[in-house]
Amino acid sequence: MNDVLIMGGGFAGLAAATRLAADGRRVTLLEKRPVLGGRAYSYTDQATGEVIDNGQHAMMGCYTEMFRFLDRIGATDKLAIQPGLRVDMLDPERGAGAIRCPPLPNPLHMGAGVLGYRLLSLADRARVLAGGLRLLLMKRRGDSRLAERTVDGVLDLLGQSTAARRAFWHPVAVATLNDDPAVASADLLAEVMVRAFFAGKDAARFVLSKVGLSELYTHDARRFIETRGGRVETKAHVVGVGFRGGEVSHFELRDGRRLTASAYVSAVPPQGLFPLLPIAIRRSVPALGGIEGLTSSPIVSVHVWFDRPILAARPFVGFVGTETHWAFNRDVIAGRRDRDGGYLSFVISGARATVDDDNDAIVARTLADLRRLVPAAAAAVVRHTQVVKEKFATMAPTLASARLRPATVTPFDNFVLAGDWTDTGLPATIESAVMSGHRAADVVTARLAAFGTPRGEARAAS
Ligand SMILES: Cc1cc2nc3c(=O)[nH]c(=O)nc-3n(C[C@H](O)[C@H](O)[C@H](O)COP(=O)(O)OP(=O)(O)OC[C@H]3O[C@@H](n4cnc5c(N)ncnc54)[C@H](O)[C@@H]3O)c2cc1C
Repeated sequence: MNDVLIMGGGFAGLAAATRLAADGRRVTLLEKRPVLGGRAYSYTDQATGEVIDNGQHAMMGCYTEMFRFLDRIGATDKLAIQPGLRVDMLDPERGAGAIRCPPLPNPLHMGAGVLGYRLLSLADRARVLAGGLRLLLMKRRGDSRLAERTVDGVLDLLGQSTAARRAFWHPVAVATLNDDPAVASADLLAEVMVRAFFAGKDAARFVLSKVGLSELYTHDARRFIETRGGRVETKAHVVGVGFRGGEVSHFELRDGRRLTASAYVSAVPPQGLFPLLPIAIRRSVPALGGIEGLTSSPIVSVHVWFDRPILAARPFVGFVGTETHWAFNRDVIAGRRDRDGGYLSFVISGARATVDDDNDAIVARTLADLRRLVPAAAAAVVRHTQVVKEKFATMAPTLASARLRPATVTPFDNFVLAGDWTDTGLPATIESAVMSGHRAADVVTARLAAFGTPRGEARAAS
């Protein structure tokens, strides 16, 4: 019998399940796919036999909830963590530049990093720094203009030039918010600046997985749950959430089972949860009915195997002013020195204008971007390519979304929500997903304790 039923086996569901299992709760996690990992998973590419991610994921030193989760399941040593923030950028007009933060106290580390960024004029470097500090102050003071403006809208307010947007603000905003700065929320960008770039030198570091994403966390999390008496069921598709007497009464599965528990956690995306809710609930609970209005922003990933290494020892580089935003050097990240050739994973974020195009056309444009920025790549022979299109990659971080993101708690005492899209105040990222899972677990723990439900004891099944 279950203390807690959790639907969704991505970062949010697994974070909730492991936190509850660590507290002695008996959890059952239900995942509709044959594998765990949701939108952050890896698989074996048939042509190369290589494990590749559905898309390169970059984490940051400020992902404190994610570190807590990975520590809990014993997976932190699978991460490669930069000693200090260093981001190399390539600009077709101005060449190469880097934001390199020395080990100075906050905010001097960022000050030094921006002042040394040669893709901007000296005047623009000063403008970016002043703008960043003003944005920080606006966030700390709770300035209401942040919630009312888009990223571009607030950059207007901060007097940022076209060049400063092109080589600094837009790359930062698109990478962290996964959408066009013309529609993305300024408040979310300000949150990223507060947490990541102006929270000390360690918070700003990039963190990458040395192993495939599934290996990073799904197997260890599953083992953690199962060794504590919990269960993880894959191919377990929840097709309905039952409500009775002001509470959730069961999760209904596609195979006909009705599972019951003392508490229920939804850790599925909004477009997954909405159809599971009875129409009467959608109509009577605005926080749940409203989730239908949340839209998504796509990411396109282009994996390319060359006959030679391309970026030397650099783990990743950012592209300025091109359709392709980043190139990740998978060989360097994985510490692989034995390869005959080179493997790069390219990222196109906020890819609305790309996602419906033909794969060959996308590959051709990505390679053209690379050859423009890294002329030596023109001589390299492409051995194999793989395009992964994630249409529903993340919740679109628009001003409308900010108003529709629901809280962890619902009006139903035994039903809580998790997922990167719930109202964590963060963009839809791994950190948001894990934070939401931990919050859901904490609410469930407190409520089960308040109801006096002993660990491992479920209410009678209906
Ligand atoms: C290509 C790509 C690149 C990204 N890059 C980054 C990055 O660089 N940094 C970063 O921090 N974040 C990144 N993200 C975002 C990150 O992957 C997500 O924020 C995170 O994985 C979301 O986790 P989640 O648990 O909230 O949701 P999900 O991962 O979507 O998990 C939900 C799970 O619920 C399951 N499910 C759905 N419906 C049902 C049902 N009815 N019954 C049972 N199970 C169900 C799904 O199959 C899924 O496994 C990226 C995302 C993508 C797609």
